[in-house]
Amino acid sequence: MVESLKTPDAMQQWSQKKYKMGKTVGLVPTMGALHRGHISLIEASKQENDLTVVSIFVNPTQFSAGEDFEKYPRDFAGDCKKLEQAGIDALFLPKTSDMYSEGFATYIEVRGISNRLCGAYRAGHFTGVATIVAKLFNTVMPTHAYFGLKDYQQCVVIRKMVSDLNIPVTLRFCDTVREHDGLAMSSRNTYLTSEQRLDAPILYKALCKASLLISERRLVKFREAASLMQQLLKSSAHISEIQYGSVYDSETLDDISEQDASSYSGKPVALAIAVKIGSTRLIDNLIVTVP
Ligand code: AMP
Repeated sequence: MVESLKTPDAMQQWSQKKYKMGKTVGLVPTMGALHRGHISLIEASKQENDLTVVSIFVNPTQFSAGEDFEKYPRDFAGDCKKLEQAGIDALFLPKTSDMYSEGFATYIEVRGISNRLCGAYRAGHFTGVATIVAKLFNTVMPTHAYFGLKDYQQCVVIRKMVSDLNIPVTLRFCDTVREHDGLAMSSRNTYLTSEQRLDAPILYKALCKASLLISERRLVKFREAASLMQQLLKSSAHISEIQYGSVYDSETLDDISEQDASSYSGKPVALAIAVKIGSTRLIDNLIVTVP
């Protein structure tokens, strides 16, 4: 059985003890319904830390009104089995009322980048993310923390918060784990019907095609890569809404589709997409270094 810590106090005491013993602690924050993407973060943590802590907390403040907080997939029994197999050292499982006690009033807002891309469609989402991640850092006090590049904007927001607030943690961003057909693994993929699921790899296909245009220098402006992605997404029978699909500066997240590719020579750019398939929102991205 994996050791479970159910309150922030118990978690802090556990971590303080390990800290005094000189142990390094890796934290993998999750919302549960674990899949191989989560497990890859655990493996990365185990490779470079003495101890690995996983948190499971479906964070209400990062869901906007009308989103899927209530029906977000939860599979506690399945998660426990996977965590035991993965060999973690502790599971932090706080209750909502412990993380947000009555009268909770302090939020972290990472200005600018939080309002772009997903932030433009999910009001308050990144404030919820930054706040809960800061709380997890203060509770678990990890030396290292692991996040998936699948949620690229989340990585950029957390990196900025850690830098701006001088939080003493080393961040690691890990590659996206995909299904055999390229679909990025996500707990929300279970919402897709079998027909929608067949169409869902179109996101990754669009990213790969646009990425080739860039890496093989077959374009002048990034706009050509953005148009190619849009065209492919529009050809899908199941995509009901394209929220964004373009080329972005990998740090500021500015849309750079009107810029010449040559102005980014040698630098990484982010190709990123968000669509709805039926009522399910899917995101994906690729980071490409411009030749
Ligand atoms: P979530 O439970 O969806 O909040 O995700 C917890 C962590 O797992 C986040 O850092 C995600 O970016 C990461 N993650 C989710 N899906 C994947 C994936 N397919 N590959 C790698 N990391 C992932």
